[in-house]
Amino acid sequence: MSDDRPKLERPVLETLGRLLTFVRPYRRRILGILVLMLITSSCALIAPTLVRQAINRGLARDDRSALLTYSVAFLIVLIIQAVGLRVQLYNMVWVGQHAIMSIRQRLFFKYLDLNLSYFDHHRVGDLMARITEDSNSLQNFITWAVINTISSSLTLAGIIVLLLVFNWQLALLTFTIVPAMAALTVWWRRQSTRRYRAVREAVGVVSATLQENLAGMRVVQAFVREYGEEQRFRTVSTTELNASLRADKLASIFMPGIDIISQVGVAIVLGFGGARVLAGEMSPGTLVAFLMYLNMFFDPIRDLAMRLDQFQEAAAAGERILTVLDTEPEIVDAPDAIELPRIRGAVEFRHVNFHYTRPKRLLTDAPAPAAGKSDGTEQVSDVLHDISLSVALGQTVALVGHTGAGKSTLVRLLGRFYEPQSGQILFDGYDISRVTLRSLRSQIAWVPQDTGLFATTIRENLRYGRLDATDEEIEAAARATGAHEFISQLPKGYDTEVEEGGSRLSAGQRQLISFTRALLADPAIIILDEATSSVDTITELQMQAALARLLEGRTAFVIAHRLSTIVRAGQVIVMDHGRIVERGTHQELLTARGLYYDLYMTQLQGQISES
Ligand code: ADP
Repeated sequence: MSDDRPKLERPVLETLGRLLTFVRPYRRRILGILVLMLITSSCALIAPTLVRQAINRGLARDDRSALLTYSVAFLIVLIIQAVGLRVQLYNMVWVGQHAIMSIRQRLFFKYLDLNLSYFDHHRVGDLMARITEDSNSLQNFITWAVINTISSSLTLAGIIVLLLVFNWQLALLTFTIVPAMAALTVWWRRQSTRRYRAVREAVGVVSATLQENLAGMRVVQAFVREYGEEQRFRTVSTTELNASLRADKLASIFMPGIDIISQVGVAIVLGFGGARVLAGEMSPGTLVAFLMYLNMFFDPIRDLAMRLDQFQEAAAAGERILTVLDTEPEIVDAPDAIELPRIRGAVEFRHVNFHYTRPKRLLTDAPAPAAGKSDGTEQVSDVLHDISLSVALGQTVALVGHTGAGKSTLVRLLGRFYEPQSGQILFDGYDISRVTLRSLRSQIAWVPQDTGLFATTIRENLRYGRLDATDEEIEAAARATGAHEFISQLPKGYDTEVEEGGSRLSAGQRQLISFTRALLADPAIIILDEATSSVDTITELQMQAALARLLEGRTAFVIAHRLSTIVRAGQVIVMDHGRIVERGTHQELLTARGLYYDLYMTQLQGQISES
């Protein structure tokens, strides 16, 4: 059965111990909960003895006042227990929720800190699951498992002692059914772990299918795949149904099974105990109390059995969470990093070599790959070879070349999103690996191909470029790029909500917003991944004007797809298989009749009629 258990790398206790540090800030409240738990557990244990007294001293001796006293005492104990439980439960949930909120925040902050290479190797769904599912398992664990395990153990021990004290022979007789109960519980636990895992997997497949279809609805409908998707969804949801039914069937065996066994216990006590009472060896009150304890006896056993699973689950979830929290970003400020002063924009690459690596520790895999290097990273592909490049202040560099030539990689190195294995990159003579990431990146503005708009107002999207920009500055920037024209014609102007991904705006409008955002940031260096999709001619002209305004007086790296941009660039860099194979102006390169000339003839020339 061990293959059903998640394989854990760290000792469970170590994981749980570290997780407990998240509740440390609430230790006084937890102490309060423990005190309350002692009180409520004692109340639970005392109640049957009060009934015993009510029967033995009240009923049996025909003493009304004793009967009344014990009944009232019984009531009071129950009320204390109920109130205590309420306060205790609320505080347990409070601690659980607070601890989980801080875990979620820590995870999210960690994601923000990690290098982009981390995200190359982890699926968004997996990273989300840490914050949603794993955090939920942990919350359950923190809220219920720890406290309830203590309280169940205490109650169980109390009941065993009391039963033995009341009548040890009868108690021992009753305990004979415990093995049956334990066997049933263990069997159930094993089966249910497996079946509930099947349910979780099936649910996962259903939601993945759902997500894929919703996100790709355009493709689904464009290719008229509705029928096929319908069939697929029918299959996965039927699988989920069957898995759930199998799990529920198990529960429908377990619950009555436990009931029957405990009723056998009741029958034993009633039979043997009743005989004792008739023989005058035991008081009727004791028998009743015995029966009441018996009733309470099995709950903690069942509870403890179920907690074992929660411990396992929490340890697995906790391990996944700690793996993320323990991941250290590989690219960080050097210990002696300086603040890069406001630069003017000269850029130089000196013999830069780069290849992508897999991070040292992946969330999902176990051992490091055998082919890995001694530091645990693994080279995945060789991408840039001996890149040397000088860019003058304010110059526009157009990067051209086939897909996969290394253009995007080259510009990513500028923001130190990846670190070259050798060589240097200098901004105004400062080696960028020796300055703080913050001061470096704040001098670069990115205009990505997919504009990366957030689901908020246009104004807030623009302000993302510079958080302290005033409304006037935002509008001035928008006028400069020409975005103001269309924004002011929208019903709510700058306060128009952009849908997720900006789907209600045209491609050209999104680009203009993206340009404006970059302009507002007022960086020394611009990195622009030009959109490949062409826009209509009027917008094309607008776009060129906006672009000219944005690039004016700044150093720019443009992954160029438009002939008009390339023609205007001060320097065209032609890349092939990670090397710079040609450089010069558009005219010079045309005359050279090399790779650029081929690209021009096959891909770029056709644009002349457009622009
Ligand atoms: P371009 O922008 O010219 O199309 P890229 O810089 O995107 O080229 O890619 C250069 C090479 O690096 C390609 O072979 C590509 O498969 C590889 N590559 C790009 N991004 C990554 C990444 N994040 N991890 C591993 N390999 C990558």
